[in-house]
Amino acid sequence: MSTVDPRRTIAELKELRARSGDENGAQRVAFTPVWVETREWLKGKLAALAVETHVDAAGNLWSTLRGESERSLLIGGHMDSVPNGGWLDGCLNVLAGLEVLRRIDAQYAHCPPVTVRLVDWADEEGARFGRSLFGSSACSGNLDLDEARGLTDRDGVRLPEALAAVGIDFERVKDSRRELRDAAAYLELHIEQGPVLLDLDLPLGVVLGTYGVERHAITFRGQAAHSGSTPMNRRKDAFLAAAQMSPEIYRITQAHGGVGTIGSCVTKPGIVTSVVEECRITLDQRHLDAAGLARSLADARGASERFAKAGGVAVEWSRLWNIEPVLFDPRLLALCEEAILETCGQVHRLPSGPLHDAAEVARAGVPTVMMFVQSLHGISHNKIEDTREDHLALCVTAFDALAERTLQALAGGGWS
Ligand SMILES: [Zn+2]
Repeated sequence: MSTVDPRRTIAELKELRARSGDENGAQRVAFTPVWVETREWLKGKLAALAVETHVDAAGNLWSTLRGESERSLLIGGHMDSVPNGGWLDGCLNVLAGLEVLRRIDAQYAHCPPVTVRLVDWADEEGARFGRSLFGSSACSGNLDLDEARGLTDRDGVRLPEALAAVGIDFERVKDSRRELRDAAAYLELHIEQGPVLLDLDLPLGVVLGTYGVERHAITFRGQAAHSGSTPMNRRKDAFLAAAQMSPEIYRITQAHGGVGTIGSCVTKPGIVTSVVEECRITLDQRHLDAAGLARSLADARGASERFAKAGGVAVEWSRLWNIEPVLFDPRLLALCEEAILETCGQVHRLPSGPLHDAAEVARAGVPTVMMFVQSLHGISHNKIEDTREDHLALCVTAFDALAERTLQALAGGGWS
């Protein structure tokens, strides 16, 4: 019986931090030289195993340990980071997966009962082109090619050009889909990036799914008027209506659950001596339950119309983006819970606010689950992102236990 060595994973995370970070944090932005070099480092580690490694049409790196069956257990993560990122987001998943792959390779003498594959997704963060989950959404088939074709970075470089520079043909990225042909289950470990497990004083959690998102711009239009000569009862103040949305969003999430954020507020003419003529706010609503999300959206719309009418202004909504909630596989949720209980005796089930590659894999129809490990400070995408080392060790052990349980379930049949 082989076991994982979590200390090796922690040492490799530190090695990676030293190689690809600086005093401001991790600098592994996708498709940049540091990212390319990071992958070479990873490939060097994989070369010690009985795996076949290749890059797919979308730039995702796949390492395959062939088993007795073609049916595949997938383990995923992402080596790319945001600029000035943390030392764990994404790469913990890959390096813990590498450790699990080592254990399976050794335990089953290079041929496990089912095929096991480690994937490093390309450009999960979308830091450069503003499109998150690039590699996994190309693979799942959800990437909108027409939209992505036009994306440019700050320097005006188009996404297809940036991809060509690292050997990826943009027009063929969806060929990546064939990688999921024999996929029977997908597992992803991730830092929580929020404060829930920290506040509960628990190291590990089972992730129920990822929030659905509704993102809108809401524009209120009134009338500009002199701040001195216009009596209060004669104003058509676009800001007054918009501002009432702020406490209302808190009331709505209190009633329906989920989260809601007014992240931006821009006023015109935006001068100190004028009543606001136009006020544009953005609203980001997230919920694990599609009906709850729909109710929250409907309530926000209704409230905006009430406030507009009461204030004598007009209101207009435009959708910026949306995605439906993604619920993870109940069988895998149960296995994940068992693995965590076996490792540390306590478990919590929680949704994920951020999106992850796992959501794309689930949307492609592959049974999926994620495991979260506690984040200190509840912070990520920042160099202060951190997790206690004893918790890192626990998550490698628990994730390995989940992988083994899933492997046994896939090998044993009864898993359609
Ligand atoms: Zn991540």
